[in-house]
Amino acid sequence: MSPQNVSTGVLRTLHRIHRQITDLKERLERGPKKIRACQAHISHQEEQLAAARADAKALRVSTDKKQVQLKAGEDQIKDLKNKLLGASSNREYQVFKDQIAAKEMTNSVLDDEILEGWEKIEQFEGRIAEAEKAIAEVRQKAEQVRCEVQRQEPLIRDDLARLQTELKQYEVTLPATVRELYNRVVRQKGEDALAVVENQCCSGCHQHVPINVCAEIMLSHPMFCKTCGRLLYMSEDNSRVV
Ligand SMILES: [Zn+2]
Repeated sequence: MSPQNVSTGVLRTLHRIHRQITDLKERLERGPKKIRACQAHISHQEEQLAAARADAKALRVSTDKKQVQLKAGEDQIKDLKNKLLGASSNREYQVFKDQIAAKEMTNSVLDDEILEGWEKIEQFEGRIAEAEKAIAEVRQKAEQVRCEVQRQEPLIRDDLARLQTELKQYEVTLPATVRELYNRVVRQKGEDALAVVENQCCSGCHQHVPINVCAEIMLSHPMFCKTCGRLLYMSEDNSRVV
């Protein structure tokens, strides 16, 4: 083989290594993303819990206030009943009676509201307990994710380093002129710097590859796609048929 030639095997291997490197880099990026997603989930749950606690607290305060009002109302009724006994005229008697009736009405409304308040507080407490449990679960899950990401990271980095060494070993076998072009395409396209030719089409851009170009590739002459610039190689089926 002429020193200007590049075998299909080398190109196919280079493409494979590039794809594996991309895959590993994506996995490396996914780890911290997963951790961030877990933290966002925890923050969201904590906000929900804080809101539920604040609502419950506000309700408790307002219900307590109503109880104080109810107590005051009951004292006022007692006072009015005493006054009723000592009424000096029918008119005065009627005025006290009306006042007592109005107070009793107000107290009855307050009583209902207090009861409703306590029911709601109970519901809030149930929701708070559920939210606390959910947070504990989310935190535990986040910890598992963090441990797994930490465990995987050095393994992925080792694989990446091994592949990058392997990549260099193959890249140095490329003829200098080809390597220069190849490096430029790699900088632009990463793993898409290479493309397999299938059914006379570049699998990168799906454009037709002229038959004379296919013939050159089959002779191991490095050829770049005229449309997308990818370094082309034959699919395994085609490369056997020469
Ligand atoms: Zn192409």
